[in-house]
Order: sequence, then structure tokens, then C-alpha cells
Amino acid sequence: MKTNFKNVQADKDGFFGAYGGSYVPEALRAELDRVYNAYLRLKKDPAFRAELRSLQHTYQGRPTPLYFCKKLTEQTGGAEIYLKREDLNHTGAHKINHCLGEALLARYLGKDTIIGETGAGQHGLALATAAALIGLKCRIFMGETDVKKQFINVRKMQLLGAEVVCVREGGKTLKEAVDAAFAEYLGTFEHALYCIGSVVGPHPYPTIVRDFQAVVGREAHAQFRRLKKGLPDAVVACVGGGSNAIGIFTGFLSDPSVRLYGVEPMGRGAAIGDNAASITFGKPAVLHGFKSLVLEDEKGEPAEAYSVASGLDYPSVGPEHAYLKDIGRVNYVTVTDEEALDAFRRLSVTEGIIPALESSHAVAYALKLAKELGRGASIVVNLSGRGDKDVDFVLDNYSL
Ligand SMILES: *Cc1c(COP(=O)(O)O)cnc(C)c1O
Repeated sequence: MKTNFKNVQADKDGFFGAYGGSYVPEALRAELDRVYNAYLRLKKDPAFRAELRSLQHTYQGRPTPLYFCKKLTEQTGGAEIYLKREDLNHTGAHKINHCLGEALLARYLGKDTIIGETGAGQHGLALATAAALIGLKCRIFMGETDVKKQFINVRKMQLLGAEVVCVREGGKTLKEAVDAAFAEYLGTFEHALYCIGSVVGPHPYPTIVRDFQAVVGREAHAQFRRLKKGLPDAVVACVGGGSNAIGIFTGFLSDPSVRLYGVEPMGRGAAIGDNAASITFGKPAVLHGFKSLVLEDEKGEPAEAYSVASGLDYPSVGPEHAYLKDIGRVNYVTVTDEEALDAFRRLSVTEGIIPALESSHAVAYALKLAKELGRGASIVVNLSGRGDKDVDFVLDNYSL
């Protein structure tokens, strides 16, 4: 295990400190080793790097801008607030960063199908998009409850040529969708690749997804330096599984003066089932093939996770985050539904940017932090996605 804060690398068994690893059947572990070895070769291949860079530039919309919120800063009366505009990616969020990479990896491995799980539909949509672009078949597992709630996303995935498989087990949401996707993968890995939606799952997923998301931090670091000739005092990102956060943090880990904040959803409050703050309240346990901090109910089973932002309601978190918490490099904090909704409105009316409810958690914390750090300081917020998907829900359930 090497930690120089330049890059945190998992050990050979895929552990970040006490967390990570690979708790899957032997046959699958052997396949995941093959996937990882292929990935390590591909990562260095100049033709692959050129293709990914070109697609990021011409298809996806990278580099995404770093934007200074002048009005919001003046209104808040403290540190300068900057947004890394991942909401401007094609498909409206950061998830396309790793989906494009995973789809290219599948093609390199000679697979004809990619499999994915989705909760609210954001990862499913990004993966179906990448599959259409690269020319792969795509099967998306989605809980029945989510299929009903997010029917427009089901239609979009179908329009993109993906097959949406409705999962009717258990709570019929994200957790069961992941179980179903793994079960499918176990029987189909000879011709399929499972493309997970965040920096979670067994080794090597947390590493591969992190590497593909690291472009966010690399760009933000360079953009900030160009703009301000220095470094920001703080970087803030919301944490569900943790992919957008690790993506931007990776660019700043080796700068000890930059404080890093991961914002977890406190939902309706601290009671079990009312939030999805896995780092704040979780205990070490194995879920979905990896060890990390997991929210548990009274019986010690994985708890139902809740947040107003459906992209954040996962009962565990990427193992690298659990490790970064342990070593004290990242501060993990919480924001309630109510605070996130306030930030959703504030950013919309003040800057003309409607943020995703997930990203609104990061904005909400940045507003508090800006006052605390005061004038002269600066904060970069990873605006992981746009809020068009959330407008109907917010208007139906909350007042403006
Ligand atoms: C899915 C999603 C998230 C949460 O996922 P992470 O892996 O924690 O980044 C955050 N923001 C948006 C817009 C999302 O779609």
C-alpha cells in the first residue's frame, strides 16, 4: 500500500487500507483479474488514449469549464465559489466519464455486451449512450420501484437501443439491481463486461472508475492555476458511491494545503433509514463484493438508504473514501434534504444554473464553508450534474 498523496494505489488484493478487496466467487475473481490486466495494458496504449481524448473533446464536451460564481459569492459574503461544470457533459452528468472508458475497455476485451445497474436511471442512461456510440449491446438492471418512478429514463435507455431488465426481488431498488447485474455477469462474462456505476464493487472497479473520473480533477487543477495562479483553499463534492468526488479529489490529493470535503446526504435526519450517510454512520462490512462502511439496520442487515437525491441513496461507499476518512485526508460532512433544496433554488435563481439534487448537496456545504473561510479564500465545487431531471419532483413535492 503506497500513499504519498500523489496517488493512492490499492494493494495487490485491491485494498485501500482496511477497505476494498474482492469478495466474489472464484470464477468471477479470475475474470476480474483478466479485466484488470487488460485495463493496465489499455491505459498505456497511445491509440486508446488518443481515441478517448478525441471522444471526450468532440462528443462529450470536455474540457468542462471552471466557472466563477460572482453573484453567488457576493450574496454569500465570503470565499469565492467556483463550479467545475460536469453538468455540461453530454447526458448531463459526470457518469459519462467512466461509462465511455468502460465501453472502450469492453470493446478492447472483445466483449459484445455491457451490463449495468441503475437506480434513478442516470448510470443506465450514460451506459446506454456509451454502448450506442461504441456499438455494443447493453442490458440495464433496474428495480421495479425505480422503473415505475423513472419511466422516462426507461424509455430513453430503450430509445438508445438498450434492454432494461426489471428486477422484482426484495425492495426492488438499486441494491437488488446490483445483485441481479452481478448474477447475470457470473453467467455471461465470456462475452460481457459488467460496468459498475461508481467507485464501488470488487477490485478492480474502484480503481478503474476512479482513473476514468480523474480527468475532472486534472482539468480543475490546471484551470484553477491558470485563472488564479495558485490553488483553491477547498474542494467540495457530494458522495453517493463516490465517483465524482474521487474524480475531483484525485487532482488535489498531493496538495496538502487544499482541504477536501466529501458531502454525504443526511436526508430527513440521523435515524436509520432516514439518510444515506454511509461514512458518517456506517460500520465495516461486505456488500456487493467489497468491504467498506455500510449502513446497517437493527438486525445488522444493509439498511434502506434514503436521500431526496436518488443518486446518493446507496447504503455503502467506495473503499478509497473509507480509507481517506481513516487517514484524515478528506473531511466527510453532511447536508440535509432541506439544505440541499435551498441550494438547488439559490443556484438556479442566482446564477441561472439548475443543479442536480445530488450536486446541490455540495453547493449547500460550499455556501456554509464560504462564510467560514471568509473573503480572500476560494472554493471549487464539483457540480456533478444538471437538475432538469429533478424539476418535476421538486415542484410536485416542495414549494419554491
Ligand atoms: C449518480 C450521481 C451522483 C452520485 O454518484 P457518485 O458516484 O457519488 O458520484 C452524483 N451526482 C450526480 C449528478 C449523479 O448522477
